[in-house]
Amino acid sequence: MNPLIDKYNRRIKYIRISVTDRCDLKCLYCTPKDSDSYSRRRAILRFEEITRIVRCFADLGVSRVRITGGEPLVRKDVVSLIGQLSNIKGIEDLAMTTNATLLSKYAIDLKNAGLKRVNISLDTLKSETFKMICGGGKLKDVLEGIRGAVNIGLTPVNLNTVVMKGLNNNELIDIVHFAIENMANIRFIECMPVRRIVNLSKERFVSVKEIKSLIESHFELEPAESSGGGPASYFTIKSAICNPQSAIKIGFISPITQHFCKSCNRVRLTAEGILKLCLAYKDGIDLRDYIRSGISDESLKEIFIKAIQDKPQGHQFLNDKCIPIEQSMSMIGG
Ligand code: SAM
Repeated sequence: MNPLIDKYNRRIKYIRISVTDRCDLKCLYCTPKDSDSYSRRRAILRFEEITRIVRCFADLGVSRVRITGGEPLVRKDVVSLIGQLSNIKGIEDLAMTTNATLLSKYAIDLKNAGLKRVNISLDTLKSETFKMICGGGKLKDVLEGIRGAVNIGLTPVNLNTVVMKGLNNNELIDIVHFAIENMANIRFIECMPVRRIVNLSKERFVSVKEIKSLIESHFELEPAESSGGGPASYFTIKSAICNPQSAIKIGFISPITQHFCKSCNRVRLTAEGILKLCLAYKDGIDLRDYIRSGISDESLKEIFIKAIQDKPQGHQFLNDKCIPIEQSMSMIGG
């Protein structure tokens, strides 16, 4: 029996781990340019601490791990962490979320180390808009990274687009075409009101309902199976039956208008070692402190089991109390 079942009968099988709060981009919706200093290096969990936490979770039935950030590929030697995690008994799915600026450089090594697949942020196909949204970097590198991941077989590649009115909502059809051409799935995400972007997320907000009806004005969609119990509701394009080239999935993620907390199967570990039971709540459990004061594996597992019982029933993004105003997505690990 998996002891990680919370009081709402949700089975926790998935941990998302931020390995750094640093990022080579400064996306408007994630890490605004004026964000304050990064964590001190000493504060960041070491690889052996991360693997120990994952090993204990795996003993309790967690089988899926996602490495994220910040930008995970800016953490030194992250390939070696992937190698260590892929050897942990019970971990069946090891994935990464990345902005892909460095992906073409690391894709082969990551694959050889045991990474199974990647999710890649892609908010625009226009260089100027890329600069505006991402605050730097080169779109060309991201596109190369996407192609590299698909060619090497870090698949399925899921592209993530945070949709924002007046910035990229006029590009969604082009982005679907790009996904089809590159045989990647595409997921459109509602902008969440985290930290200093509460106003931006309100002013630029586009609901999944609006996004989906825009996509449906160009493509006939059919519901598709969603694997892994993630937050997206997936569709395929009907013409894909005649043309397997377009057999990608289009996903819609609606954290705001139709939240999916009822089926939440995950916890998060911040770069500093805080175990967060829900993205939208400030509080968490400081695992780094426990580990650095010499706790045993058995006691660590007991802490996990007890913590899961306190997992909130759902986020309250629309209720100001629960907005994590002190933490950006790059700190929490999106
Ligand atoms: N640097 C990596 C990247 O760009 O994919 C990983 C970290 S980033 C925080 C992970 C994901 O968080 C992004 O793909 C983006 O979709 C999501 N994200 C960040 N801020 C968000 C927001 N305010 N609303 C919705 N999604 C957000």
